[in-house]
This record gives sequence, C-alpha cells and structure tokens, in this order.
Amino acid sequence: MIGVYPGTFDPLTLGHYDIVERANNVFDELYVVIMHNNEKNTLFSTEERVDMTRNALKDFKKVKVESYSGLMVDYFKLKEADYIVRGLRAVSDFEYELQMALMNRSLESSVETLFLMTSQKYIFLSSSTVKAIASHNGDVSKFVPPCILEKIIEKKGQLEK
Ligand code: ADP
Repeated sequence: MIGVYPGTFDPLTLGHYDIVERANNVFDELYVVIMHNNEKNTLFSTEERVDMTRNALKDFKKVKVESYSGLMVDYFKLKEADYIVRGLRAVSDFEYELQMALMNRSLESSVETLFLMTSQKYIFLSSSTVKAIASHNGDVSKFVPPCILEKIIEKKGQLEK
C-alpha cells in the first residue's frame, strides 16, 4: 500500500514525526510531500523544508520526501497512492480536515483520507507554536528533532515576534 502525507512542515515537529512513525507501520511506501503553497508565508523555503524533512526522516527506509506545487489529488494519482495520510490533534483540527478530505474526494472520487491520532503529548504542538516560542528565545528542543532545532537556531533572526 502506498500513502502520501502532505503538509507545510514549516518546520517538521515531533508531532509530524509521530504521524510518520505510525504511517510507516501501515504502508509499504510513504511519500511525505512538502506542499509549495504561495498563500502561506513560510519561514523555510520549499528546498530548505525538503532537505530538513529528508534529514529528520532518514532512518525510515520506506519514506521518501518530495515537494509538489500542484493539487494534492494530482500528486495522489501520479503516485498511484491508496491513501492520503493526515494527522489529527484536538477536535479543532477536525472541521478543516473534514473539509479538505471531502473536497479532495469531490475532485477525485478514488481519494481516501486516513486520519491518524497523534500521541497525547503532542496534542497541542504545531509548527507555528514552535516558531512563536523560538522567536522569544524559548527552548523548543522538546518539540523538534535535533537536526531541525539547529535550522531553527540558524533562522532565529528571521522569526517574527
Ligand atoms: P498543513 O498546512 O497542510 O496543515 P502542517 O505541516 O501544519 O500542514 O500539517 C500537516 C499535517 O500534520 C496535518 O494533518 C496536521 O494536522 C498534522 N499535524 C501537525 N502537527 C501535528 C501534531 N502535533 N500531531 C499530529 N499531527 C500533526
């Protein structure tokens, strides 16, 4: 079975990592897809996000990290995937995720989305929280893999307060 896990990953957190670990146990191949989305003003460029994510996930032999700038459903068809994987945290994620899953299904009826629940300890963790804490010199080492922490420190000057 082939899964695709799309997201912004600006940057990847231990919450994303947790979902990859879970999905890695389900799929034979898993594509982590960095979506190039002009609407979102990202801290890291698409190339940086691909490199950082690839580095953070290098131990997962079944996982490939790529970027894509088109529609998710087109990537899904291109890879002949079976499922889109998304992570769910608190109930607050539900409405947005439901909307996206149903929109993708209405664009392409073969698209099925599989939701995986994160660990309880990551329920309130998001890339934007990590960036906000880091911008005020807070310690984010508990929330991201060490190689991602290094990149956040390098970008510190560009973090909005
Ligand atoms: P997007 O902009 O597509 O929401 P994100 O990188 O913010 O991209 O998230 C990608 C996916 O990972 C989403 O399904 C999101 O709900 C999920 N996710 C983000 N943070 C966590 C976390 N702490 N635990 C589990 N899933 C998460």
